[in-house]
Amino acid sequence: MHLSKEEILYWLKEDDTGRLEALYEEADRVRRENVGDAVHLRGLIEISNICSRECGYCGLRADNQGVERYRMSQEEILQCARQAVDYGYGTVVMQSGEDYGITREWMSDLIRAIKTETPLAVTLSLGERPDEDLVAWREAGADRYLLRFETSDPQLYCIIHPAPKGRPGRDRIAMLRRLRELGYEVGSGVMVGIPGQTYASLAHDIALFQELDLDMVGVGPYIAHPSTPLGSRAVLPLAPEGEQAPNSEEMTYKVVALTRLACPQANIPSTTALATLNLAQGRELGLQRGANIVMPNLTPPQYRVLYEIYPAKACIQEDAVACHTCMKARIRSIGRTVGVGSGGRKRHAENT
Ligand code: SAH
Repeated sequence: MHLSKEEILYWLKEDDTGRLEALYEEADRVRRENVGDAVHLRGLIEISNICSRECGYCGLRADNQGVERYRMSQEEILQCARQAVDYGYGTVVMQSGEDYGITREWMSDLIRAIKTETPLAVTLSLGERPDEDLVAWREAGADRYLLRFETSDPQLYCIIHPAPKGRPGRDRIAMLRRLRELGYEVGSGVMVGIPGQTYASLAHDIALFQELDLDMVGVGPYIAHPSTPLGSRAVLPLAPEGEQAPNSEEMTYKVVALTRLACPQANIPSTTALATLNLAQGRELGLQRGANIVMPNLTPPQYRVLYEIYPAKACIQEDAVACHTCMKARIRSIGRTVGVGSGGRKRHAENT
C-alpha cells in the first residue's frame, strides 16, 4: 500500500479515539500479515558514551560536562555477546556516541571476533562515520546499520545538528543510501515531537521511510534533557502556531502505526523512549500498534546508568537478566511469540 503525504498528515492530526482505534487495528493486521506474530529480541550493548558531536537534544553531547565517560573493552563487549547467545537472541546492536576512540581497526577486530565466535547478526549504531569505516566493518561481517535521520526538515536538522568540529559532516540520507549499496540492512527513524517539528514535516519523515524502503525504522518520543540546548530551551526552534507535533505517547503510537502501513515488511521496534512515557504498557501498546521488535539491554549496569541520552530512561537500573525476563513476559502477555533466528528483513518475494 502506498500512503500519500496528505493521508499521513490527516492521520497525524486525527484525535478521534474511535478512528484511531481503527488505524491501530489496521497497523496490527498489516504487521501480522507481513512479519507475523514473532517478536524478535535484539540485545543492545551501549559500548561507549563518548561523543564528539553537539546534537542539541542528546545528553551524551560533547559539551555536557556532567557525564562520566566510558568505553567498554572488547572483552567486556564479547562477554555481552555471549550472554546474548545464552538468552537466545539472534542479534546484538552495538550503539555509542560518535566516538573516534572507536577506531576502524578496533571495531573491525571486534566484529570479526563476534562473528567467529557466535552465530549472531551484528548491527552497528555508531553515528556518522567515514566511508572507509563503513566499508571495513561490512567486510569484517557487520550485517546492519542504524542511523536515524531524526528529521527530514533541512532547517531544523541544521539547528539541532551543528556540523562536526574538524571533520567534514555527512549527509545522513546519503549515508543511508551508501550503506544499502555496501550490502548492509539499513535502519533509520526519527524522534517524535522535537521542538520546531511540524505535523507536516513529520508526515514527510514517514513518506521518506517509505521512499527509502528502509529495512528497520525506529521512532520514539523526544524527551527533553535539561543539560542540552534544546532541553534547557537555550535553543528553541518554534513551529508556527498550532503546527508543533506533540512529543506525546499517543503521537508516537500514531507514528508507529503509520510507519507500519508505509513500510509493511520493515522491522520496527517498540522503543525504550516509548516505555519511558508509559512504563506499565508502552512496550506492549507499541507492539500492538505496528511494532515487531524489542531491544533488551545487555549493557552492564555500571555503564548503563551513564548512557543517559535522555533523563529517567526506562529500566536504567535493571541488569541484563531482569531485562530479558521482563521482555519475554511482556511479549507473551499479549499473545505473541519470542522470535528465533536473526530476524532479518523479510521481502515479499521470500514470503511467497
Ligand atoms: N550516536 C548514534 C547513536 C545515538 S543514540 C547516532 O547518532 O546515531 C540513539 C538515538 O537516541 C538517536 O538517534 C536519537 O533519535 C535518540 N535520542 C537522543 N536523544 C534523545 C532525546 N533527548 N529524546 C529521545 N530520543 C533521543
